[in-house]
Order: sequence, then structure tokens, then C-alpha cells
Amino acid sequence: MAEHIKCLIIGSGPAGYTAAIYAARANLQPVVYQGIEPGGQLTTTTEIENFPGFPEGITGNELMDRMKAQAERFGTDVRFGIVTEADLSQRPFRLTIDGEKEIEAESLIIATGATAKYLGLESESKFRGMGVSACATCDGFFYRNKDVAVVGGGDTAIEEATYLASICRKVYIIVRKPYFRASKAMQQRAFETTNLEILFEYNTEEVLGDDNGVTGLRIISNEGVRKEIAIDGLFLAIGHTPNTGVFAKYLNLNNEGYIITDGATSRTNIEGVFAAGDVKNPHYRQAVAAAGSGCIAALDCERFLMEHK
Ligand code: NDP
Repeated sequence: MAEHIKCLIIGSGPAGYTAAIYAARANLQPVVYQGIEPGGQLTTTTEIENFPGFPEGITGNELMDRMKAQAERFGTDVRFGIVTEADLSQRPFRLTIDGEKEIEAESLIIATGATAKYLGLESESKFRGMGVSACATCDGFFYRNKDVAVVGGGDTAIEEATYLASICRKVYIIVRKPYFRASKAMQQRAFETTNLEILFEYNTEEVLGDDNGVTGLRIISNEGVRKEIAIDGLFLAIGHTPNTGVFAKYLNLNNEGYIITDGATSRTNIEGVFAAGDVKNPHYRQAVAAAGSGCIAALDCERFLMEHK
């Protein structure tokens, strides 16, 4: 028989846990399924210095452990598991966890996040967290006065490259096409940044490094000319994939696959289904923004459950 859950939260990043803290305190008896990456993307970064309330900084893992503990303190049931099937065509929503456990949920908060795309090189995975990052805002500070490279030609790549240029000695931006995909205004910003060197028509072949981390990059031009550049850090900015998975076919998504919500709320096109964090927001991929979004989802969900008693 299916287990009946009043408020089901999928995802265990800052959005999911913040939603759980609020939902638990409002007596919605939330259940959180942690998903593929318990703790979310923050667990792949090192030190977090821009989450308010931690003036000395905190590691990604510790911050997530604390959010989990705070959610559990008020009675959230946090479980391992991945949603493998979902039927959102009627309420209660029916979901299957790990291919076997059946759930009926009166309300659903989707906080499954987004996954940064990587190039897929073996050397890139080897140095992930040791000089390879997908978030300049998170990790850029550690490269003060050092040399770094950014891969990508979109708005994010230029935003990250110009941000890094304000911290680092030299920044390379590696663009596979002979032009940027980014908006004209962002391109202008890149062209005007003096310590930013743009390498058009280059692809990354290998991340070079030693026991201490990244030391350089081997790139190859579209004409087949190889070149090595010395860098201390590599930032990937080649896009993100929102993790909408089994929910995608029921929800209104934008062109890039992010869940569309109603104005500043977390309400999706399905009554009783709410979205929070990076899965609905490609622009402000920050822990504190995701946490705020989780709070909004819990408040919207509470209101919905009150109205549908
Ligand atoms: P985009 O999808 O817009 O750009 C991805 C970039 O990465 C493209 O230049 C693409 O190249 C390149 N790329 C993809 N795969 C590879 C690969 N394997 N090797 C090398 N390069 C690769 O993603 P963004 O994250 O930049 O932007 C996402 C959305 O967010 C966009 O709508 C953007 O406008 C928006 N945004 C807006 C900002 C702002 O307005 N300030 C700031 C940040 C994002 P190619 O062009 O050849 O496909």
C-alpha cells in the first residue's frame, strides 16, 4: 500500500532543506528524499565564505549537515532515495521511489537543483575540487593574484571571467567558436577587460597538474594547433542542466528546461506542486538565493494545504 505524505520535498540542497525547516515548523510533517547528490552542489565546493551568518566561512559539507540537522530538529523525515516515477496528473500525486516504494503526496516541493556541465575529460574529473570548479563566485576568491582560465562563450562564461579578472592576475577565456554566444553588452565587457585574454576557436584537450592541483591546460585550435597555458585554476561555464527528470512532462518549462513558476511565487502550472532553487532559476545560482526560494515554496505549500483541507 502506498504511504500517504502531506508534504513531500524532493532534493536536499539549501532549497530542499530550507523548505523542510519551514514546513516542519508549520506542522506539515515533511518528508525529504535526498536524491542523487545528498546535500546538493554545495557538497562539491570547499569553503563557503558568502553564506550569511558564518563570518569565518564554513565548508559546503558542514553547511549542508547543519541544514539537515535543523530540518530534523523540527521533525523532518530525511530519507535516501530517488524518484523513479511520478504521476502528477491528479491529486494525491503518486510517486515511486527507487523503483519500488509507492507514495501518495498531497503536495510536492521540487528542489532538485541543476547540474553543472563538465567537458567530460578524465583529467578534469581528477582535479575537480583541486583547481577545477564550475562556480567562480564560490571558488574565485582562492585564486587571488593567480592565473586562471574559463571555458565557455555564453553570458555565464563572460560574467565569471570578468569577475575573476577583478581578483586574479590573468584570465584566459576559451571559446570553441570564432565568436561569443553571450549578449553584446557582456561581450563588450569582455573586450574591455585588459587582463582577460580571449582565445577563440580553441577546445580543451587536457587539464595538467600535480599532487597540489592544476598547473596548466593543453588546448587545441580548430586547425589542430596545440598550445599549453600555465594556470592555477580552471572554471567551466558551459551551461547547467536543470534536474527536472520524471517531472518534466507534467510541468511548464522554459526553453532551457527550467521550471516556470508564477511570478515571484513557487507555484507551478500544477496546483499543489511547487518549485524551489536552481531547478527554477538559471540566473542566481547561489546557496542563499536557493534557501530563500525554499522558504517561499514552504509558505506557498502551507497556504495550499490550508485551503485544501
Ligand atoms: P549558454 O548555454 O548560454 O552558453 C554555454 C556556452 O558554453 C556556449 O558558448 C557554448 O558554446 C559553450 N559550450 C557548451 N558546451 C561546450 C563544450 N563541450 N566545450 C566548449 N564550450 C562549450 O549557458 P550560460 O550558462 O552562459 O547561460 C545560461 C542562460 O543564463 C542564458 O540564457 C544566459 O543568457 C543566461 N545568463 C544571463 C546572464 C546575464 O544576463 N547577466 C548571466 C548568466 C547567464 P557554443 O556557443 O559553441 O554552443
